[in-house]
Amino acid sequence: MSTQYQIDEEGFYGEFGGAFIPEMLYPNIHELQQQYLNILNEEDFKAELNVLLRDYVGRPTPLYHATKLSKHFNTNIYLKREDLCHTGAHKINNALGQVLLAKRLGKNRIIAETGAGQHGVATATACAVTGLPCVIYMGAKDIQRQAPNVARMKLLGAEVVAVHSGSQTLKDATNEAIRDWINHPQDTHYIIGSAIGPHPYPDLVARLQAVISEEMKTQMQGNPDYIIACVGGGSNAIGAFYHYINDLDVKLIGVEAAGFGVGTNKTAATLQLGSTGVLHACMTKILQTTDGQVIEPHSISAGLDYPGIGPQHAHLDKTKRVLYKSVTDEEALQAAYRLSQIEGIIPALESAHALAFLEKQTFLPSDRVVVNLSGRGDKDLDVFIKNR
Ligand SMILES: *Cc1c(COP(=O)(O)O)cnc(C)c1O
Repeated sequence: MSTQYQIDEEGFYGEFGGAFIPEMLYPNIHELQQQYLNILNEEDFKAELNVLLRDYVGRPTPLYHATKLSKHFNTNIYLKREDLCHTGAHKINNALGQVLLAKRLGKNRIIAETGAGQHGVATATACAVTGLPCVIYMGAKDIQRQAPNVARMKLLGAEVVAVHSGSQTLKDATNEAIRDWINHPQDTHYIIGSAIGPHPYPDLVARLQAVISEEMKTQMQGNPDYIIACVGGGSNAIGAFYHYINDLDVKLIGVEAAGFGVGTNKTAATLQLGSTGVLHACMTKILQTTDGQVIEPHSISAGLDYPGIGPQHAHLDKTKRVLYKSVTDEEALQAAYRLSQIEGIIPALESAHALAFLEKQTFLPSDRVVVNLSGRGDKDLDVFIKNR
């Protein structure tokens, strides 16, 4: 199997990736780098994770032939139903895998940070089912904006710590979580929620989300012509692409959030507009000013509102193995309304970005197009109603 799209021994994908961490974090990260592949390959780890994925998450998720949507676009559209996962999105695949990994590392306390709250809910869920204590760091401003997810995390038994420093949002919560980890290297594992951060996280998360494309391979005879997924940090997309990356007959499309449009300053289209730099301890593409200040991103969907992108995606873009496009807030909303009305499925606003790409390309009647439906839209009802 060709490895040109995977990490090398130093944790780089071409020029992207690596672990640009403060010295205080070396012990934690080094241990993870040394151990993660061994543990992921242990038979009893795989067996325990697979039982949970099957009986608790509800995997395999269906690959649904959306006949009415297919008719609308005069092609063959298949939806990979990650929206049917327990907790309503793909994030649980990663959270469960990392909690089981933590246990095998002898770490019996879990921490994470969350912005919109989706990763916090997935982590709190995984901790509840495995019986580990869970501390979620969250900016005080985000706690106010995301009250339902805060309530969910607390109900699930997690401790939610409000962070009052800085802008009281995600990056301040990240700083607090890292401080906690530095202070508890022996007993604590830090769960990152997307295919981002220092090596080995991008590869660890990709491998845990790769179950999406592994299932697709058994659910579909032969290869599809296209696989389309939305990209925030890039975990659902890399999971949907993973086992097809070396199958060059499959066109892989990543869809970023353009927000108000790529010609405006209210956007999150990192690969369209970004440049190379270090964010969250890895070399990748980021939205930044010429003097290196991170630009505040915008997207109507909280899960795509991120100024960076996972390093593997930066590399897949550079090598042109994956084509990255963007769609606006408005285009995503329209795609969400369409799917709701013609298939009876209310998608997450994030996933609606992948669906909106269907408008941007003419497909052949014989094409088979897989869209990764990363999550369900219940969490976005307020936005749908406000913009109707
Ligand atoms: C968080 C989230 C995303 C974006 O994260 P990725 O790591 O890019 O997958 C996409 N869809 C849903 C439903 C999410 O909750």
